[in-house]
Amino acid sequence: LKRLIIKVGTSSLMLPNGKMNLTSIDQLAFTLSALVNQGYEVILVSSGAVGAGIQRLGWERRPKTISEQQAVAAIGQAELIKIYSQRFNHYNQQTAQVLLTRDIVDYPESRKNVVNTFNSLLELGVVPIVNENDSVAVDELDHQTKFGDNDKLSAIVAGLTDADLLIMLSDIDGFYSSNPNLSPDATLYSEITAITPELEAAAGGKGSDFGTGGMSSKLDAAKIIFSHQQQMILANGQNPTIILDIIAGKTIGTHFVLP
Ligand code: ADP
Repeated sequence: LKRLIIKVGTSSLMLPNGKMNLTSIDQLAFTLSALVNQGYEVILVSSGAVGAGIQRLGWERRPKTISEQQAVAAIGQAELIKIYSQRFNHYNQQTAQVLLTRDIVDYPESRKNVVNTFNSLLELGVVPIVNENDSVAVDELDHQTKFGDNDKLSAIVAGLTDADLLIMLSDIDGFYSSNPNLSPDATLYSEITAITPELEAAAGGKGSDFGTGGMSSKLDAAKIIFSHQQQMILANGQNPTIILDIIAGKTIGTHFVLP
């Protein structure tokens, strides 16, 4: 394994009280910097812009309209990158911001450019921090430029950059036979080799308050990963140093891998 995509969900970046989880962000910066020092190429796909924006504004509510949401995301994205940049600098690690829209899927010219940008950044030993470009992405039927969610975005980035592994950090240990918050006897799948209707049913609907995708969007991401003969590990991001255990080959979370 050489090229890694790490996706962190909002639940790994925000505390339940709505504040940024600076401990978790610091552990993430420490871990990814250590991996770069060991010779890995690392791309971080990070959610959390809207949450960071709400906190920066001191709001007690979530944005209402789409334009308000895009404004809050623009505020939060800058704040989030500032925090990442500070924490990574602490470990002598350079970062970069890459904001994407679906153009990279729809237009070969855009795709070529972003792949070149990623390759150059990785060659320079930089950690690109990727998010959807919320202030321009639109969700119109005739002009769809949104990815949908960062689970899907991270799988698309894994495909574009020909990554060896996508690690998805969530607020849960992996993929269960049903939502463990509702059914206490649910069991964890350690390996998933195909996305079956049974798994789709187990994924249910939307996840936590802060997260957007829930488990069904993890399965959509896994389908993209499988379509490129790639692999993905879904694990608990409560302590991001878990990434080091995953890289060391410990059996952690749910491994999505073709037979
Ligand atoms: P993230 O913010 O990391 O994207 P989400 O909140 O969107 O995470 O999704 C994770 C949540 O999905 C879990 O906390 C859990 O409540 C819910 N969930 C529903 N079905 C399942 C399942 N079969 N296995 C694991 N988690 C599930």
